[in-house]
Amino acid sequence: MLVYHLPGTFETREAHLDLLWEAGATGLEERAGLIRAYFDARAELDADIADGEWRDEAEQDWQAQFKATLRPVHAGRVTIVPPWLRHEVEDGQVPLIIEPGMAFGTGHHATTRMAVEALSALDLSGTRVLDVGTGSGVLAIAAALLGADHATGLDIDPLTIPIATENADINGVPTGRVTFAEGSLGLDDESDEVFDVLVANLYAELHDLLAGEYAAALRPGSPLILTGILTSKLDLVRAALDREGFGAVTVREDGEWALVTATL
Ligand code: SAM
Repeated sequence: MLVYHLPGTFETREAHLDLLWEAGATGLEERAGLIRAYFDARAELDADIADGEWRDEAEQDWQAQFKATLRPVHAGRVTIVPPWLRHEVEDGQVPLIIEPGMAFGTGHHATTRMAVEALSALDLSGTRVLDVGTGSGVLAIAAALLGADHATGLDIDPLTIPIATENADINGVPTGRVTFAEGSLGLDDESDEVFDVLVANLYAELHDLLAGEYAAALRPGSPLILTGILTSKLDLVRAALDREGFGAVTVREDGEWALVTATL
């Protein structure tokens, strides 16, 4: 990659920027007191911009750099890792492998981590779990790995379904133990399936709208786990849960994000 380093900033060299474009620059960037002008080939430069220096820089592999920064995420009994960090999962922890960058839900967001922690705190053996807004499938897969009989992941974005299915496969979850489908609560009026646990990482306003559907989809006495909630919007969620008859409400906060649990 050929870069011409010109001393100065866009402000101090404003009059000279056109000269760089006219010489064939394909892009300009300002960094650390230098203007970096990208070229496909060396060019004749006007005398006003001849005080710079040509550099042939190695291509940066941003993908590799991003991958190198990822660390395992500990969430209760579960450790969420990308495939290449599987060996870093400590003995006794349940490994949950998620290929990052494909759909929301790598574990690196506080809401996902808190939701997996909340699932991990439950005894899921023999339960049927519903994950609304499944994204990468992380919460449904966590439930299956933690012993749920069956987990269903719904998402209104059809692109997430093959990604979640592939993640379940990577984790060795048998197809009969997890199902992903395009959809949401309240859209499919024919379904009267009830669940033992419902988890949803959406946002406060949507929790408010869906609270009645959550109540209809849960067996009495069952736990509800909601996140994606900004702490500033907690009152909206509390009021919705109260309205629909949920009790035993608990709140956990991590920075600006909150996770709410309640029981029907
Ligand atoms: N469950 C994953 C996690 O915890 O990391 C992903 C959560 S991501 C914040 C929210 C997901 O909900 C997105 O994949 C989005 O497409 C989906 N979504 C948004 N509105 C929805 C709705 N009304 N019903 C179902 N899914 C919805």
